[in-house]
Amino acid sequence: MRVLLVEDDALLGDGVRAGLTQHGYTVDWVRDGVAAELALRDEDFDLAVLDLGLPRQDGLAVLRKLRAAGKDTPVLILTARDTVADRVAGLDAGADDYLIKPFDLDELSARLRALTRRRAGRTSSVIRYQDLELDPAARSLTQSGQAVILTARELAIFEALMNNIGRALSKERLEEALYGWDEGVESNAIEVHIHHLRKKLGKERIKTVRGIGYLLPKNGGSF
Ligand code: CA
Repeated sequence: MRVLLVEDDALLGDGVRAGLTQHGYTVDWVRDGVAAELALRDEDFDLAVLDLGLPRQDGLAVLRKLRAAGKDTPVLILTARDTVADRVAGLDAGADDYLIKPFDLDELSARLRALTRRRAGRTSSVIRYQDLELDPAARSLTQSGQAVILTARELAIFEALMNNIGRALSKERLEEALYGWDEGVESNAIEVHIHHLRKKLGKERIKTVRGIGYLLPKNGGSF
């Protein structure tokens, strides 16, 4: 899961980035409203955590432009302004949820998981596919109840695929789910991770769609 964090407070931003990284998210952090607008326009994020009070352009303006551009990236707003009017303005501008500062990192993480679930149309916190169950909170995968040991990156890739069952994800999309901007991407990294995932989960599980990418077929296999 790739998250854009928009927060101008260095201490808070640092804490949120560390906390979300620990919860398995790949976090890109920008500190003003213009950088946020550009990042959301040019990159593909699974989620955005958006502070309202920002230099150069406030969070509400960023959010309105995002929605005006037709992008449905789930957005959770962070607000120090604990007034009903501000929260209503945020939700009306297209926010999916909000938290009032100060907040608890575990609560932020839980709310982001809920947004991801809602977006994928799920009501349960666990993602199921065939005989597999992925628990995004626990960062674990089981096959018929037995733990499957995956590396953090293998799990991130498989989670992206499980959140998009029946839809092919390009190599670039999987790389984005995996890496922040400041990490180098080896050209064959995704192929290597997919190879390992197939070895651990069964060769036929992940389909290669030539020229497009990888997917978990909607009604694939009989388990
Ligand atoms: Ca701020």
